[in-house]
Amino acid sequence: MTDQNDTPETDFDAVDDAADESTPLQPSDQSTPDLDDVVLDNLDTGTDDGSDEASRGLFDDLLEGEPIFENKEVLRPSYTPHKLPHREEQINNMATILVTALRGDTPSNILIYGKTGTGKTASAKFVSEELETTSQKYEVPCEVEYINCEVTDTQYRVLAQLANKFINKNLDVIEDRLDELEDLIKRAREDPSELDDTEFDSLEAIDEKRDAFEADREEFEEVPMTGWPTDRVYSSFFDAVDYHERVVVIMLDEIDKLVEKSGDDTLYNLSRMNSELENSRVSIMGISNDLKFTDFLDPRVKSSLGEEEIVFPPYDANQLRDILQARADVAFKGAALTEDVIPLCAAFAAQEHGDARRALDLLRTAGELAERDQIDQVEEDHVRQAQEKIELDRVVEVVRTLPTQSKIVLFAIILLEKNGVHNINTGEVFNIYKNLCNEIDADVLTQRRVTDLISELDMLGIVNAVVVSKGRYGRTKEISLSVPTEETEAVLLSDSRLGDIDDVQPFVQARFDN
Ligand code: ADP
Ligand code: MG
Repeated sequence: MTDQNDTPETDFDAVDDAADESTPLQPSDQSTPDLDDVVLDNLDTGTDDGSDEASRGLFDDLLEGEPIFENKEVLRPSYTPHKLPHREEQINNMATILVTALRGDTPSNILIYGKTGTGKTASAKFVSEELETTSQKYEVPCEVEYINCEVTDTQYRVLAQLANKFINKNLDVIEDRLDELEDLIKRAREDPSELDDTEFDSLEAIDEKRDAFEADREEFEEVPMTGWPTDRVYSSFFDAVDYHERVVVIMLDEIDKLVEKSGDDTLYNLSRMNSELENSRVSIMGISNDLKFTDFLDPRVKSSLGEEEIVFPPYDANQLRDILQARADVAFKGAALTEDVIPLCAAFAAQEHGDARRALDLLRTAGELAERDQIDQVEEDHVRQAQEKIELDRVVEVVRTLPTQSKIVLFAIILLEKNGVHNINTGEVFNIYKNLCNEIDADVLTQRRVTDLISELDMLGIVNAVVVSKGRYGRTKEISLSVPTEETEAVLLSDSRLGDIDDVQPFVQARFDN
């Protein structure tokens, strides 16, 4: 059998010989005896050092080190903290406006805005939980509905989601009331005086009420997520909200996404509801990363929505430290963080427009990297690695989701850089871009449009384009790549259309032809 392995050409002869010597084999079994031997051989030789490995699973090494995290969940974006340092003022402002609801009146609409990671969602959720708890405590009917408009991004879906939430709440109320009536009927049958303190003067009256509730129950029909005319969805929602007396606060988070995608009809409809509602009142709390979206609103909607405005300014490095420290105390084991870790995470995130989400991501990722290194302390270097990793993940995501035309433009810039061209100008990019487009049968845009696409890439932080004056030759852009070349190229080539380009050298040559 050693022979066979050493002289592959004679494999079949050898197998045939072997087969001849032993019992006849089925044709498909020709090589089986040899394979078995090989496998057994391997197992045999591997036994000494291999058995240990077999019993030590994939996870043993990783489990060995002291764990760094006490509760990693606390650092995830999905976690809603109950203490929000440096947001006291904004939270108090919200509460001062919304307390009106607990007095049974309609709170002003509120527009909240600030950059991402400034604690808008966390603060709004915190306030809404407090509001609902207090309303239960004092038995004032007040409900808060939260909708993330990045996910629920059309008028139909916003209204359908709201309608269904209120329909379900109403059904719960109806069930409770029916149970109470059932109970009352039983008691009143035994002792008619049970009716004395109630709104009913006879068992028949209770029956009637019960029938009415049952009819209501039949009438509330869930709104399907597509298919109805929007009018019908709106009136379902309207009827559901108005079913009984209450103040409803509708939180529309990422409201700019809704307006961008579907215009301001939803806001228009919601903001004029109060004049028609009989039993209930609606107040809107819009949350946005960007105030510019209000330019696209009907002036009536704009003034109604912005009755009160609350700004969430970016956090500075010191504030971010406090936020991180509070979370780290719960998330990490006692001595898991070296001294510099939190200040460095805070400093990096402060540069990133004071984004607390980025600060927390850095801290979590740094912890994970330390865990992977199997050491029991997170060090400054882990934070630096985390910063690089997050930055790269961001670039990959941005590049991956670029439209094809922008990808081609970016690819042209990468090809130039890879061929040692510095201070790339728009004309050079355009020439290569044209050739790439022809190669993959894409439309060729005008040079002007390509210039716009380059500006967009600049705004996304993928390239850096500076305008330089060329004296009497006018002005041109000098373009350079702001992201790692290899990784970015790999992401571009993973796009099936760009992946088809196999030999790129001719395109780079082409720039000299023009
Ligand atoms: P936004 O909605 O403004 O983009 P988020 O409310 O989602 O920001 O906050 C981003 C992350 O930072 C969340 O994980 C949140 O819990 C946390 N965070 C923001 N501000 C604070 C704060 N003041 N205290 C504690 N955690 C905060
Ligand atoms: Mg948010």
